[in-house]
Amino acid sequence: MQLAPYAAQLSSSRGRRFAEEAPTYRSDYQRDRDRIVHSSAFRRLEYKTQVFVNHEGDMFRTRLTHSIEVAQLSRSIARILELNEDLSETIALAHDLGHTPFGHAGQDALNASMKDYGGFEHNLQSLRTVDKLEQSYAEFPGLNLTFESREGILKHCSPKNAKQLGDVGERFLKKQLPSLEAQTVNLADEVAYNNHDVDDGLRSGLINMEQLLDIRLFREQFDLVQKQFPDIQDRRQVHEIIRRMINRQVIDLIDTTRHNLQRLKPGSIDDIRNHTHELAGFSPDMLEMNQELKRFLRKQMYSHFRVHRMSVKATHIIQHLFNAFLDDPRLLSPKYHSIVKQKQAEHGDAGKARAIADYIAGMTDRYAIAEYGKIFNPGELT
Ligand code: MG
Repeated sequence: MQLAPYAAQLSSSRGRRFAEEAPTYRSDYQRDRDRIVHSSAFRRLEYKTQVFVNHEGDMFRTRLTHSIEVAQLSRSIARILELNEDLSETIALAHDLGHTPFGHAGQDALNASMKDYGGFEHNLQSLRTVDKLEQSYAEFPGLNLTFESREGILKHCSPKNAKQLGDVGERFLKKQLPSLEAQTVNLADEVAYNNHDVDDGLRSGLINMEQLLDIRLFREQFDLVQKQFPDIQDRRQVHEIIRRMINRQVIDLIDTTRHNLQRLKPGSIDDIRNHTHELAGFSPDMLEMNQELKRFLRKQMYSHFRVHRMSVKATHIIQHLFNAFLDDPRLLSPKYHSIVKQKQAEHGDAGKARAIADYIAGMTDRYAIAEYGKIFNPGELT
């Protein structure tokens, strides 16, 4: 694999928190990716909401299929820009590991419950998952990923949290940027969810074709497809439009980023980190089209009454589980009860609350619903 000088190179990696021998037949970034794929948090993404709760239908995206789509886009982009494809894939597969059940409604509810104990933020929780919560390896806690993978996972961070995070927190205090691999994965994430939310939105009937014809990014591709295939209908038509929308955005992202790189000629990953602004990006025209699409999705889809009803239910479940476990940790299974007791002994009430938040954040949608039933529904078996 030919790497550009500004790509993440293993020879300049800042390494792992706990020193390990280099792998035999893989690179260190491939090893990071493999550890993520084999983690239990990764498997649970299958039953976590992206926009639709898992039981709403088998055809919708889940956090797992979303993460795989982000990895696919990220790898294509990395390969063309001569970035480190393995690192891009690793960051993409890990980027949503810290999500609670029930998507953003779940995250907001858990954040509100944790307000007196340092709050809850899913992106920070993704890092916490790979650094601490996965417990599978004999010699270290977490997955002991390389600095570059951890740096890429942590997209944003308050100065207060950054101070407690050590090396990966530093850049938020020094106002530095992450690798280009991390920057492009972040944009690939946006491309993936904007487009698959249009697809899932149409499939579910929350939005319709007529509304989308007012959105320029959609309209342009719709017109091209109509012209070329006047008789195409239904799902084939939708897929044909969306695949072209994705292609258009990815090509714009590659061309714009390449143009920035040619103009500024960064000579190393540290040049990327020390630059005043991100070198990965869309053209102004594409940025405007993306924003129009996002505004549309926010208004028509994410605030649709059916999504809102599910969000209210999700909030109710998360709040009640949190309060119940906080008031009476004996409701937890002995395994989690002992973790909560230990964290309380070490860090007081904040430690107790954090351990409960970790437990709830790790739940899948269906597990959270089942736990709620077992605790609050007198007719259900425990
Ligand atoms: Mg995502």
